[in-house]
Order: sequence, then structure tokens, then C-alpha cells
Amino acid sequence: MVERIEALVIGAGQAGVAMSEHLGKNHIPHLVLERQRIAERWRTSRWDSLVANGPAWHDRFPGLLIPGFGPDAFVPKEQMADYFEAYAAMINAPIRCGVEVQEVRRNSIGRPGFVAETSEGQIEANYVIVATGAFQRPVMPALVPESAGLTQLHSNAYRNPAQLPEGAVLVVGSGSSGVQIADELVSAGRRVYLSVGAHDRPPRRYRGRDFVWWLGVLNKWDAEAPPSTDHVTIAVSGAHGGHTVDFRRLAERGATLLGKTESFHDGVLHLAPDLAQNLVHGDKNYLSVLDEADVYIERNGLTLPADPDARTIPADPDCVTHPILHLNMQEAGVTAIIWATGFAADYSWLKLDTFTEKGAPKHQRGVAAEPGLYFLGLPWQSRRGSSFIWGVWHDAKFLSDHISKQRGYLAYGSE
Ligand SMILES: Cc1cc2nc3c(=O)[nH]c(=O)nc-3n(C[C@H](O)[C@H](O)[C@H](O)COP(=O)(O)OP(=O)(O)OC[C@H]3O[C@@H](n4cnc5c(N)ncnc54)[C@H](O)[C@@H]3O)c2cc1C
Repeated sequence: MVERIEALVIGAGQAGVAMSEHLGKNHIPHLVLERQRIAERWRTSRWDSLVANGPAWHDRFPGLLIPGFGPDAFVPKEQMADYFEAYAAMINAPIRCGVEVQEVRRNSIGRPGFVAETSEGQIEANYVIVATGAFQRPVMPALVPESAGLTQLHSNAYRNPAQLPEGAVLVVGSGSSGVQIADELVSAGRRVYLSVGAHDRPPRRYRGRDFVWWLGVLNKWDAEAPPSTDHVTIAVSGAHGGHTVDFRRLAERGATLLGKTESFHDGVLHLAPDLAQNLVHGDKNYLSVLDEADVYIERNGLTLPADPDARTIPADPDCVTHPILHLNMQEAGVTAIIWATGFAADYSWLKLDTFTEKGAPKHQRGVAAEPGLYFLGLPWQSRRGSSFIWGVWHDAKFLSDHISKQRGYLAYGSE
């Protein structure tokens, strides 16, 4: 028996739930398959203390407030997962959990649509929406061999400080994950080395408004292309009620900052001489947001309080003025490395000719080169906000409307 459905959504994270809402509104019969539970990654692929990076008024879907949290609260990860579960129930999303899609291929020539091989049999669909997440496969550079005898884990496997062996910890990566994990380890009394690459670090708040508000009014969430072709991580945190990430203050609290991790030989980690430069780049990004905010306030005559302290950049600590370029791990007492080095996608199960040589989906705003196939939740799918909670909801609407239009064309002549 082959089950048939008009549209098949694969994955029930926030993207799959948003897609279901819009397909439902467009009266498109559909099914969402989720191999684990709704919003599984919020429950089990993140560290224990993680909270959403944006406040509750922003990091949500339009149709439902996050129950139990004020607008400015940063919602803990479990409650974020509960929220998406509640949202799916509210919209009666037809989600089937515990079913893995193992392969998708095109139907044979002469028939439209796709066939999905799942852990519970075959399903045919005219439209397939891949909502399996942008942050799927942890990327861990193979720099330090197992023979070095260090505990090594990716940030997605980090849970809390007690999980790590005694001793100092090296955290590699200066995006939101790396900096928050380093902060937590310092607070837990651990000796921390933090390898800082190029990063942006927008202010958490400025002149009484959160950075998500500033990115909104300054039209940066809707920016359609990254400001540069180089990938630059963003260091922002909702921890402890939300605070601006400041690497120098982390150093004041005991962390030792290092430049970019380059290589490892005979027990020694080699660092690039770029720490000061990376911090200056982060400062520039930080100050540019303040400048743009000031111009916006003046231009629009807003009465927001002044915030002169925001422009104070602390002096460089010793680890910046005298950077460590070679770190002997044993002498430094390092017993563990946490690689906060990002994620890649894995579409090996999609047996379709719709990928670039580097394995990235060929698409326009999520509409794949392969007719009938769609991607949702990709970074910069249509705008900066695309892989974030509020942004994916808008992209899902666009895709659902696209499917609706296609169905309209196909119905031509049949009325
Ligand atoms: C550490 C971290 C913190 C983040 N914090 C925020 C934040 O605060 N605010 C924000 O807006 N964004 C945040 N993001 C970015 C983004 O919102 C999340 O990554 C979010 O989980 C992405 O949702 P998604 O639905 O696109 O993908 P996912 O949440 O990854 O969901 C994909 C789902 O697909 C399922 N799946 C995968 N393959 C298959 C298959 N073959 N068959 C069936 N099911 C399958 C998975 O089990 C999973 O449930 C964060 C990301 C990370 C990594």
C-alpha cells in the first residue's frame, strides 16, 4: 500500500510547524513527518541553560504569545519546545512523530511528484517541503587527534560544566554558542581558554530597545543578502536576562582569550596572531549599530533615553596585548575542548539533482530547481531572518502561496 498526500513536509521543528499552518490556511492537504518529537532540537540538541536569543515578544510566531512569559523575557529552551508543540496543537497540524524519511526520489518519468521511503512505508506526494533544519550536522575541524587524550565535543553535545573532566577547558568559536558556553564555564569556576575568530557583536540593548528591535526598524532582519561573502558569526546572548557580549569583560572575569585556532602539533595548539584585530572588528560592528540607531532616533524624533556608557569599550586585557600564539595543552592544564564551530546540512537522503557541487540546495527563496520541491529554514533563504523563529514563518507563507499558485496553473482546463 502506498499512501498518497498532496504535500509532504519533512521535519517538525519550527519550520515544519509554520509550513503546516500556511498549507492549512491555503487548504492544501498535507502531512508532516518528524523522526523524533516536535521541536526535538530545542529539547535535546542544546545545552541545559540555553534560553532563546531574542525576547519573547519577538522570538515567536504571530498567532500565539508564549504563555507564562512577559514580552521581554528570554524563554528557556524547554519552554520554547513546549511553545511549538502547543502551536502545532492549536493549528491542528497533521504531524506524525517517530517517522523518519529515509529517501526521497522523483516519481518515474510520466508521473508528477515524488516518492518518499519512510520508516513506515512509502508515501507519494506532489509537493515535498524539506524542513529538516539548517543546523543538522555538527562541524568539528579535525585539528586535534584522538591520540592527544583530550575530551573533545561539539557545542551541540555540551550540556553543562559538570559533564566535563576536571581541568581547564578550551572553547573554540566566538559565535553565540561559544561565548555563552565559555561564560557558563567561567561562572562555574573553570579555567577557560576561548579562541576568538572574526565575529559581529551587536549591542543587546541600546537606548531602551533590544537589538532585535533595532535590527527590525533598521531593516536588517529583512536584508536579502549577507553584508559580506565571508561568513561572520554573531555573538549575542539572552542569558542572565540578556546582556551585550563583551569578550574583554569575559577576560576580566578570568577567561584567557586566544586568536583563531590554526593547528595542533605535539601537544601544542597554534593560534593566529589575529585576536586584537578580531576584537576590533567586533567593536566596529557594535559601534556601527549604535551609530545607525542614533541616526534613526534623530531622524524620526524618537524620545529614547541617551546611553553614553554604551560607547565605553574596556581596555585590552593582558591576553590581548600579549597574545598567546602557542598553547601547550598539558602545561595549561587543558583536559577538554568544546568546538563551537557551527553546523552543516545533510541532504544525502534526497536523491534529487538539485544541489550545487558543494552540496548546497539550488533554490530561489526556497523554491528548488527541481519542480515541486521546496526548502525551508535555510540561512539567508530569502532574508537574514530566514533561519530564525519569526523569519521562517514568513518564508513558509511564501512557499505555501507558491504551491497554491502552481496548483492553480495545473487546474487550468479541468474546471
Ligand atoms: C544553539 C542554537 C540556538 C538557537 N537559538 C535561536 C533563538 O534563540 N532564536 C531563533 O530565532 N533561532 C535560534 N536558533 C536558530 C534556529 O531557530 C534553530 O536552529 C531552529 O531549531 C531551526 O528550526 P528548523 O525547524 O528549521 O529546524 P530544526 O529545529 O532542526 O528541526 C528540523 C526537524 O526535522 C527533523 N528531521 C530531520 N531529518 C528528518 C528526516 N529525514 N525525517 C523526519 N524528520 C527529520 C528533526 O528531528 C527536527 O525535529 C538557534 C540555533 C542553535 C543551533
